[in-house]
Amino acid sequence: MTESQKKLNREIMPIGQWLPHDHIPWVIAGPCSAESAEQMLATARGLVGSPHVKAFRAGIWKPRTRPNSFEGIGEAGLQWLAQVKAETGLPTATEVAKTEHVELCLKHGVDILWVGARTTVSPFAVQEIAEAVKGVDIPVLVKNPINAELGLWVGAIERLHAVGVRKLAAIHRGFSTYVEMEFRNDPKWQIPIELKRQWPDLPLICDPSHISGNRQFIEPVSQMALDIGIQGLMIESHIDPDHAWSDAKQQVTPEVLCRMLDRLRVRDAPITDRDVKQKISRLRAEISHIDAKIIQDLAERMKWVAEIGRLKQQHNIPVLQLERWENLLGSHIAKGKELGLDEEFIKDLFELIHAQAVKQQL
Ligand code: PEP
Ligand code: MN
Repeated sequence: MTESQKKLNREIMPIGQWLPHDHIPWVIAGPCSAESAEQMLATARGLVGSPHVKAFRAGIWKPRTRPNSFEGIGEAGLQWLAQVKAETGLPTATEVAKTEHVELCLKHGVDILWVGARTTVSPFAVQEIAEAVKGVDIPVLVKNPINAELGLWVGAIERLHAVGVRKLAAIHRGFSTYVEMEFRNDPKWQIPIELKRQWPDLPLICDPSHISGNRQFIEPVSQMALDIGIQGLMIESHIDPDHAWSDAKQQVTPEVLCRMLDRLRVRDAPITDRDVKQKISRLRAEISHIDAKIIQDLAERMKWVAEIGRLKQQHNIPVLQLERWENLLGSHIAKGKELGLDEEFIKDLFELIHAQAVKQQL
């Protein structure tokens, strides 16, 4: 761990100190967008009864990917957030993308700010937000950038940390993909897991709504988040989801959300039973053994690759043989399928191996 990672880990405040929670998962819930005082209050009244719900969210300014969609109600919505807080006691949260947003939120007493996925990708915008919150004691949550990488995500957190923000957390909301897939945003769990490995003290929240894009997946995605040890969720909830002005397909009513939260299972048992402990050790030994074999096989594969590379060079044959690569990938995917392995997984794995093989021959 680098010195700056250690410093950040040491200085970040545990989330329980600024957002106390006694139930797992704990949740920040509320509509994608603020639409009216009635919509906000009705939604909040439905949510406040759940012991899991610890804060109320609503988007006031909506950075939309395409123009001509609803871009947020603006300042008027901040008064409705204040009303929600006055009536339910729930702390409020909204997205900020520039100085003016931060200033208005501070003026209207918003409790928690978050940086959206379309802003995290932009270091100048993040820096502007950081300057605006400098010296103010307000929590800031940072959503992952829309593209699948850790650097911009961590960079945004570091910029906020550098101006003195200590109430920080990261929100995992998945990564956009060019190809259509089941989910709106690919969760790529290895990225939040890597974030957790490098910044173990940085609180991590999962946003299953924006990963799913469809209300039917919110429960399984929330369960996956819990199963990898994420205890906080941000979930969109609307009193009339089908008529929501943004993200209608992925919102659920407060009633549906509260029932779902009660169904989620928390796996937090330590390994104490001796028998279970032994079984886990044995299985881990098997897995480590296979990993070692995979590495050995990869080394051997690369040796043959080097040899074929030399031969191609001697005979002036191009390194990349597209037809051979397509055949190889196709047959590996078919073989994998026969053995019950996920097609996407085999494809990703062999793309990585093939890229390395090509690199070695250049
Ligand atoms: C949102 O939370 O409504 C939102 C716009 O999220 P994201 O920045 O993750 O797309
Ligand atoms: Mn949304």
